[in-house]
Amino acid sequence: MSRTAKVIILFIAVIAVGWGIGKYTSPSPSASQEEGASAGTGDGVLAPPVADPEASAEPSAVPVATPQATAAPQQTGSGTEDEPSAAPTAKPEPTEKPAATSRPAATAKPSGGSGSEGAELTAAEPDSVTVMVNKQYKLPDGYKPADLVYPEVPFLFSEKIEKRMMRKTAASALEKMFAGAKSDGIHLAGVSAYRSEKTQTTLFNNYVKRDGEDKARTYSAVPGHSEHQTGLAIDISGSDGKCAAESCFGGTKEAEWLAAHAAEYGFIIRYPEGKQAITGYKYEPWHVRYVGQEIAGDIAERGITLEEYYDAVPVSN
Ligand SMILES: [Zn+2]
Repeated sequence: MSRTAKVIILFIAVIAVGWGIGKYTSPSPSASQEEGASAGTGDGVLAPPVADPEASAEPSAVPVATPQATAAPQQTGSGTEDEPSAAPTAKPEPTEKPAATSRPAATAKPSGGSGSEGAELTAAEPDSVTVMVNKQYKLPDGYKPADLVYPEVPFLFSEKIEKRMMRKTAASALEKMFAGAKSDGIHLAGVSAYRSEKTQTTLFNNYVKRDGEDKARTYSAVPGHSEHQTGLAIDISGSDGKCAAESCFGGTKEAEWLAAHAAEYGFIIRYPEGKQAITGYKYEPWHVRYVGQEIAGDIAERGITLEEYYDAVPVSN
């Protein structure tokens, strides 16, 4: 019986304690509600102090949460790492694309990049329509384009000889350009297009005999350095042949038409006025060079030279 009494007393005690706890616990929620209410009214004045202890209590959990947070980033990180790794992969692609646009220039550069300034550099891709040939950059020894054809346009001579030839792409662009000029009432004629290394050598040597090498170099290309050897360049005049490849061609209606429209057909005035320090040649309004419509348009629009387009080292002499 005493056991039963003990059990009953214990039972009552448990209930009493439970009630006490319940009573003790219930006020705090009501207090927090009040605080919440006062916090709602008093804005942040009361709320922060209350929030601070909670915050300070939470920090103990925060470290626990921080590792989780750190773990979470790791998970996202691993997920993001794939993305970043995918992003870098995506980045090089855009970088490669612009590079590809500027590659033609770079193509020429690396080939002789090891050489010092002023040294002869050899174009790495002589068959590219964007190849740069000037007093610094030369074509590989004995280079001859494989796709030379006779463009169907009038020349100042009738023979089917070397200097009437151009590379296929340039030739068809030239035919379109001559047709375009004709429809504008401008009658053009070819003066001289392709020139082999052998021909250029003969020409240059004759100039050297006549004027000496220093002077010859100012107006004639050293063999291997002539743009005419690419099969992409041509000297143009009016069909009357007046001022053919002479400075008096400048200012003629044919020269003005070329300056205004050549780019539409993929040609550039290769040696513009006032750019001698960059191209190495005096103004030659008659000498056009095929580079393709995109680059030609860009060069014409920006009023720059092929050297500037490729950001190449200026050619002085
Ligand atoms: Zn020329």
